[in-house]
Amino acid sequence: MSRSSDGDRVVPAGSAPVRRRGARGGLLAGLLGVLALTAQAGGQGHAAAHVHGLVPLEIVVEPGVVTIGMEAPLDSLLGFERAPRSAAEKQAAQALLQALRSGQGLFAFDPAAGCLLQGASATSEALEPPAGAARTVEHADVDARFEFRCTTTQALRAVDVGGLLDRYSRIRQIEAGIVAPQGQFKRTLARGAARQLTWGR
Ligand SMILES: [Zn+2]
Repeated sequence: MSRSSDGDRVVPAGSAPVRRRGARGGLLAGLLGVLALTAQAGGQGHAAAHVHGLVPLEIVVEPGVVTIGMEAPLDSLLGFERAPRSAAEKQAAQALLQALRSGQGLFAFDPAAGCLLQGASATSEALEPPAGAARTVEHADVDARFEFRCTTTQALRAVDVGGLLDRYSRIRQIEAGIVAPQGQFKRTLARGAARQLTWGR
């Protein structure tokens, strides 16, 4: 029954938000995963599906500016979704926030566009609980935003996400909503299939 993936969805069935034992539970979890993805495909703004292994991106291309929003399950990047406990977890959590806040080396563009990272930010309540917060967060995300200034976005038709994939091996799939002068696009990129999200070609 197993077969190699050639661009199909590779989000593992066990990664849906609800986990139950047995075949029936697996089916239910699978259905919920599909429903979550369908809801996301409906374009409900920030209501990105929380599916482990998946990283949703919102890419907006305007004249001279590219912004990339990310609302990723912590599991997809870090492997746990709560405040770090061990020294190793604390180090991993800090490294993740640091990497996202630096924004360097995650995304790349055609050099002809002359894009430079202008700003990057990242927040995660699970990793950095507000003072006094006692509740445990389940299925927590990290929200990040990256802004690039470009000399020209006229001919821009792709974003290279290879850096993101290389750094975070838990990512199975990237789903991008893209708003560009050429129109609006939904793109899915499975690990190993390609390194570029393309549009308007
Ligand atoms: Zn989760």
